[in-house]
Amino acid sequence: DGMNVVGELFGAGKMFLPQVVKSARVMKMAVAYLTPYLEADKKVGEQTSKGKILMATVKGDVHDIGKNIVGVVLACNNYDIVDLGVMVPADKILRIAIEEKVDMIGLSGLITPSLDEMVHVAAEMEREGFGMPLLIGGATTSRLHTALKIEPKYKRGPVIHVLDASKCVGVASTLLSEDKVRREVYLEDIRNNYSQMRIAREGKNAKRFVSLAAARANRFTYDWKNYTPPTPKKTGIWNLQNYDLNELRPYIDWTPFFSSWQLSGKYPSILKDPIVGKEATKLWNDANDMLDQIIAEKWFNANGVVGLFPANSDMDDIIIYADENKQEVLMRVHHLRQQVAKASGQFNYCLSDFVAPVGSGKTDYLGGFAVTAGIDIENKVKEFEAALDDYNAILLKALADRFAEAFAERMHERMRKEWWAYSPEETLPNDALIAEEYSGIRPAPGYPACPDHTEKALLFELLQVNDRTGITLTESMAMYPAASVSGWYFSHPDSKYFPVTGIDRDQLEDYAKRKGLDIAETERWLGPLL
Ligand code: SAH
Repeated sequence: DGMNVVGELFGAGKMFLPQVVKSARVMKMAVAYLTPYLEADKKVGEQTSKGKILMATVKGDVHDIGKNIVGVVLACNNYDIVDLGVMVPADKILRIAIEEKVDMIGLSGLITPSLDEMVHVAAEMEREGFGMPLLIGGATTSRLHTALKIEPKYKRGPVIHVLDASKCVGVASTLLSEDKVRREVYLEDIRNNYSQMRIAREGKNAKRFVSLAAARANRFTYDWKNYTPPTPKKTGIWNLQNYDLNELRPYIDWTPFFSSWQLSGKYPSILKDPIVGKEATKLWNDANDMLDQIIAEKWFNANGVVGLFPANSDMDDIIIYADENKQEVLMRVHHLRQQVAKASGQFNYCLSDFVAPVGSGKTDYLGGFAVTAGIDIENKVKEFEAALDDYNAILLKALADRFAEAFAERMHERMRKEWWAYSPEETLPNDALIAEEYSGIRPAPGYPACPDHTEKALLFELLQVNDRTGITLTESMAMYPAASVSGWYFSHPDSKYFPVTGIDRDQLEDYAKRKGLDIAETERWLGPLL
């Protein structure tokens, strides 16, 4: 009954996620203590579960902070959770859903290839004759994608996009409600809403693309003749093993930490926020206590690799050379170009535009990095989970993510100041680093300027990331451990982030050819852009 109160207060916005997760910890421990007595009294069966929900992060994806939070919130509201963990293939999800007689399935994923995997799970549910609700959640999922791509594949059952943990209880309780009218009205509403989104989309489907040739003609150009690319102090590939966590700690960006706990606001003012300030401060104190322990007891290893190579752009590709002689090509990497029609004076950007072209007579450089703070974290997470302590398990994962980002921030700074050394005098405080006030960028494969996740495989090959750091790539190109970050370094003073939101057929074909892939496969990876 206590948990019902917590659930209600959370639903009403009067309690915050960290409090819910801590309450759940008390509940779990209490239930574990009482269970033997209840069993002796044969009263266990009297506990009434509101329903059983299978949760899984889909195949190829490794992120589970959000899913675990949703699981905890549902469990505190008296739902039984069957959590299959991460990287779960469709057939396993379907098989266990049947074996465990669950009432609904919740899928989670963070990276864009997971969207396709969710479509696949939905199609499999249709094929196998399932009728139970399918809930969709996670960072790249959206109501629009759910409406356009997932729902049409699973007509037998309701498909519902759940925005975040604060919505999951409402959705689950409506779906499992005794009140069939309430359920039907709700589902009818969702179905109408999704079908309207599909109709609205049809009209807009024709994005105004220009031809690839025209987009290239409108590329960002630069006076390369009067530009001398900075010469690095160090080139090649080098490791950063067991990196000092104390050095990284001041580079942590706390704002995303609070948002992973659904506390919205910017650090540090969030600590004084009239609504969430008190809980944010408690959470922050817990986080700092854990940070002290992580560092003192070396709970995990921070490993990284960095590389910097002579390079030139060749239209939308970048050629990476073994050395300054530029006789031996180490690798050619590929980028996508913005292809929507631009207002006059605005460019159709491609990341390669920021590297001096082959014909310029200049030797430019391209860097890359991959860092992780997730090596060896699993044991400690399992320890917390075994102690029924989801609060600390989630806190640790969130902190490992923060360390990975801080590691990326610090390596980028060292790249600018020490290695590539094009901004040796830079002295920016952490808030200015977070605001990206420095010169140059570190775009991450899979993000909007370079949305093709498969280029991550080239970055990994180039830097021998797996051998040097222990990070691996899943079949969907997610980095494992989850607390890992990778990207390219560009030094050009005008380099900036931009989104490639869509590409037309001509670019798809050209890109597939440049990568040496068949069109169907390229189409699958670039699905969200087409
Ligand atoms: N301080 C943040 C840093 C991550 S978000 C944190 O701790 O979470 C910013 C990063 O996202 C950038 O450094 C870059 O790697 C990536 N990024 C942002 N916009 C991008 C874009 N349009 N294309 C590619 N990468 C992008």
